[in-house]
Formats: sequence, structure tokens, C-alpha cells
Amino acid sequence: MLTYTYIENGKFELVEKPKPVILDQQDAIVRVTLASICSSDIHIKHGAVPQAVSGVTVGHEMVGVVEEIGSAVSTVKPGDRVTVNVETFCGACFFCKKGYVNNCTDKNGGWALGCRIDGGQAEYVRVPLANTGLNKIPDTVTNEQALLVGDVLATGYWAARISEITEDDTVLIIGAGPTGICTLICTLLKNPKKVIVCEADDNRIAFVQKHYPGVLTVKPENCLDYVLTESEHGGADVVLEVAGTDTTFELAWKCARPNAIVTVVALYEKAQTLPLPDMYGKNLTFKTGGVDGCDCEETLALIEQGKIDTTPLITHTYPLSRIGEAYEVFENKKDGVIKVAITI
Ligand SMILES: [Zn+2]
Ligand SMILES: [Zn+2]
Repeated sequence: MLTYTYIENGKFELVEKPKPVILDQQDAIVRVTLASICSSDIHIKHGAVPQAVSGVTVGHEMVGVVEEIGSAVSTVKPGDRVTVNVETFCGACFFCKKGYVNNCTDKNGGWALGCRIDGGQAEYVRVPLANTGLNKIPDTVTNEQALLVGDVLATGYWAARISEITEDDTVLIIGAGPTGICTLICTLLKNPKKVIVCEADDNRIAFVQKHYPGVLTVKPENCLDYVLTESEHGGADVVLEVAGTDTTFELAWKCARPNAIVTVVALYEKAQTLPLPDMYGKNLTFKTGGVDGCDCEETLALIEQGKIDTTPLITHTYPLSRIGEAYEVFENKKDGVIKVAITI
């Protein structure tokens, strides 16, 4: 079968591999029908994900149809349309029991798919711990509607959940890439008083203005002044940093009011500085990623109810045979791209 594979630093290639087989009773084999490219795939390509193994099939955001299950899998059956969770987790360890599934201590726990084990930019994927790693897609929800459930939407939903947003809050979201927009969608579910999105790219600002009227937008260079003007207590009550550029971590804590929550969702390619003397007295609370992706059933239900719609984010579609072109467009943010779907 055809797979998109991490060869070495800077190089992904289409490679033929054997179809995966069940290795453990808790495995499922999923025939991938629609996959997407995530910025974390680009981080792997750039060597910024140390745990990524060369030779691994990349891709950790996909939907498909269950082809085969191990004897211990009970939550899905062959023929079911499913979302595949970016994180596989046992559901039973210390961290899983607390909902911190990103830190599941099982050997396949956390972000394994498309990083440590073969992922889903391929015709088939073996999903370990399938009882928790797969969620059945409701009949009225399309593959396109469900495509982002397992990763960027899970991240946005988790980020909004841990940020303790209230209806009195002014919320600043830095970055309107796919995860930033998913974070925005999930933040809006909390009905905060005001939402400001900071983004450098004109296309993405236009996207936010078109799809989320009422949300304020600002460019990074004007962000701090704008937030101070638009907020009542010397900064945003909650800041979600989803951009991950060299300057946005600093921007995030500077825009936060005293005692604010600053949630860092971004995955940086370089270390960041936490200049504690400069922020002394602001008494900030920092929360950091990665996602605990254990709310997929809930987000699928919200999609079914029409409360979450991520389909406008899918701006481009390519077949697996042309995935190299899709990466080219996505990585270089060409042609107003937000998210690319790969049909398989
Ligand atoms: Zn991802
Ligand atoms: Zn666990």
C-alpha cells in the first residue's frame, strides 16, 4: 500500500509498504478514507520532534472505516466509520484516569501515530488501544465534518476547556492557523464577552472576519496596544498562544492582565525564555500543551448538533498520490490555505 513516510530530516516520500496487520488484541486496522496534514507533520520534517522515528508513515489526523479488530476491541466493529484520535491511550493508568491521556504510560500511549509508529497518510493504519483511540462518527456527520476531530479540533477544545473561560472574559487568541481557528470555535462555545484574534497573515484575518463576525482581529505589531485598549483590567483575562513563532510567547504574557491564565498551545521549534523578573507581580498562571485528546465523543456530538463546524477550514483537497504538492502548499501557506484534506 502507498504511504507517506519520514525518510530523514527534511525529507518525506511516498513509499510502498505492506498493509498493516493486527499485532495486539486491542488493535484495529482502519482503511483511511480522508486524512489531513498538520503543522506537527512539518515539525517532524524539520527534525523538531525528537521522538519521531525515521521510516515512520506520517499523518495523525484522519477518518476511515474499521476493517478489522483485535479480540479485545469492543467499542467499534468492522464497517464502522470512525475518527482516529491523535493520541492513543490505555484509559487505565494514573494519568488516563485523571484525563491526562497525553501522558498515558502505556508504550503506545500519547502521540504515537505518525510519530513513533506508522500513521495515517496511507491507505491503512493500525491503531493500537482502539477502544479509546477510535470514535464512531454519527450517521449524519460527513467525513469532512469529522476530519479534524482527532487532532486540531481536539486541541482547540482542550485548550478552551483548560483555560477556565467565563462569560465576563476578554479572550486573546494568538494565531489563526488551523489550531488557532479550532481554538476560536471552541472558545466561542464558552460565550466570553470579547474575543480578539491576533494574526499576521491577511488571508487568515479575512477568514476569521468572514466566518466569525463579532470576533475582533489585530496584527501582532499592534496587538499589545489594542488589547490594552479593548480590555478593562490592563490586559486580556485569558490568553491562548497558538502561533508558536519566535515572538508570540513574549506577546502572550505581555498581553495578559495580572492574574490571567496564559495557555500555551503552540509547539515551538526553539526554546522560549520565561523572564520571571520582568513579569514579577503579574501573578500569571501558565498552562502548557500537548492536548489531552479524550473529548472526541463530545466534539462529534457538538458537530452533529451543528454547534461546531470545521469544514470551512478545509480549503484544499489532494489525492494521496499528489501529497507532495499538498505539503508544498500547506508548508508555504500558499493560495490562502488553511487545511489540506488528502483523499485516499
Ligand atoms: Zn497534529
Ligand atoms: Zn493510560
